Amino acid sequence: MNTTISPRDAQWREELRKAMPAKERTSIPRCSMPQLQADYRVTNNEEVNLGLSQEQAVTEATRCLDCPDPQCVTGCPVGINIPGFIKNIERGEFGQAAEVLRETSALPAVCGRVCPQERQCESKCIYNRMKKAPVAIGYLERFAADAANAAAKGETSVAAGPAPDAVKVAVVGSGPAGLSFAGAMARLGYKVHVFEALHEIGGVLKYGIPEFRLPNSVVDVEIDSLRAQGVEFMPNCVIGKTLGYDDLMEMGFRGVFVGSGAGLPRFMGIPGENFVGVMSSNEYLTRVNLMGAGRPGWATPVIKGRRVAVIGGGNTAMDSCRTARRMGAEEVYIVYRRGEEEMPARVEEVLHAKEEGVRFLTLHNPVEYLGDEQGRVRAMRLQRMELGEPDASGRRSPVPVEGDIVEMPVDEVIVSVGVSPNPLIPNSIEGLEVTRRGTLVVNDETLETTLPLLFAGGDIVRGGATVILAMGDGRHAAEAMHRRLAEDIK
Ligand SMILES: Cc1cc2nc3c(=O)[nH]c(=O)nc-3n(C[C@H](O)[C@H](O)[C@H](O)COP(=O)(O)OP(=O)(O)OC[C@H]3O[C@@H](n4cnc5c(N)ncnc54)[C@H](O)[C@@H]3O)c2cc1C
Repeated sequence: MNTTISPRDAQWREELRKAMPAKERTSIPRCSMPQLQADYRVTNNEEVNLGLSQEQAVTEATRCLDCPDPQCVTGCPVGINIPGFIKNIERGEFGQAAEVLRETSALPAVCGRVCPQERQCESKCIYNRMKKAPVAIGYLERFAADAANAAAKGETSVAAGPAPDAVKVAVVGSGPAGLSFAGAMARLGYKVHVFEALHEIGGVLKYGIPEFRLPNSVVDVEIDSLRAQGVEFMPNCVIGKTLGYDDLMEMGFRGVFVGSGAGLPRFMGIPGENFVGVMSSNEYLTRVNLMGAGRPGWATPVIKGRRVAVIGGGNTAMDSCRTARRMGAEEVYIVYRRGEEEMPARVEEVLHAKEEGVRFLTLHNPVEYLGDEQGRVRAMRLQRMELGEPDASGRRSPVPVEGDIVEMPVDEVIVSVGVSPNPLIPNSIEGLEVTRRGTLVVNDETLETTLPLLFAGGDIVRGGATVILAMGDGRHAAEAMHRRLAEDIK
């Protein structure tokens, strides 16, 4: 955690504190995020949240009490210096605020948009103890990052780039884990090459999370900044197929970081999953987000259901149901086996889905899909559930209500019940230890796998997790690989 304050910063922070007493600060109401109207936004892919104005951001930052022992920092998986960046916003130093964020977060404009702050930093804010709404840390993070990017006016500062004889390292996968690792290693002077299986760089940030929640342009700013630091990207290159691990060794890479994610969709194994019209959210979102399905003139098609059911209650399920609305579906249902309180999705996504007309059918679980004579899905049979005792996840477990099954007509089903690590890397590199869940075994401290100088992080190690955790892994693995390479080179 990085909350050390220099004497100069301590002085201006003390001055801010004196300028407005805590009582006055706590009487300011939490800001709301300006957003597009629901009936307009379902007709297009424009970003729904519009971002805070300068005035809103400074007022919201003024609510922060600059606690002597800031608990919000303990709620952030990578320990961002939250009061540090917020107090810079309060005094109008937006660029400085972004710099504080960059000390720990490679992608603040992304995290400000997609982190589940209500379960992390904001849940620890002192305002909760006063029964008041916490400081809008996520909105402020987005504001600072966007303000810095706007000030740069698309210009990426050209860094020196690696020396001609710089040590070469390879990255497998260009999601948040790989990008964060690449940035940290480039700053340490390494020549970094990122190999990506898909034609686009960005991992789930591009192929999974839709444009209306995270515009590609926001991710591209970060990728361009890595390019300016000398990082090279090789799209359309599947490690384990196009090139093997041995090829990477022969090409002179001294260390390799695997951030290949968890892109293998899970199904429930119930009858009827092979009917036309039943697909994983991974396939659905990739077709729409990355392959232009639904746009006139694009080659990749996708079924456009009229009555669509999305099975699951996570962020992926919310992205899928909201995408289905934008693809023209008239009736879209979230079908989830537990209650709404147990849903893992971000609260804002649930709210936005409801505003956009998605209906929530909780405590129901599909047990069979029924097809028509052409093999297309036409209905599903749903088992009604009730909540039992908490399970290993701490949430109340879903228990079937014996004999209570209902039938519901649908013409498209998007299955969003979790993902597993892609087995290609674990299977194609000899000597890599893998857990029963298919994730890579790494040293907890260094993130080095069972092969020397092969590190891994993000979803390939954690299973489906979050952007900020993947980014944190990338940064930690870079620090550890740097230390290992220094020992190796001695
Ligand atoms: C639809 C969706 C919505 C989400 N919403 C949120 C959210 O709101 N907030 C949040 O915090 N998290 C969210 N998540 C989870 C989050 O996106 C992931 O935890 C995070 O992206 C993991 O990062 P990663 O770098 O480990 O992997 P990924 O982002 O999955 O990137 C892995 C990359 O590796 C590439 N790759 C795989 N195998 C190979 C190979 N053999 N050779 C070369 N390249 C390879 C893949 O093509 C991919 O581009 C969401 C996930 C999904 C699917």
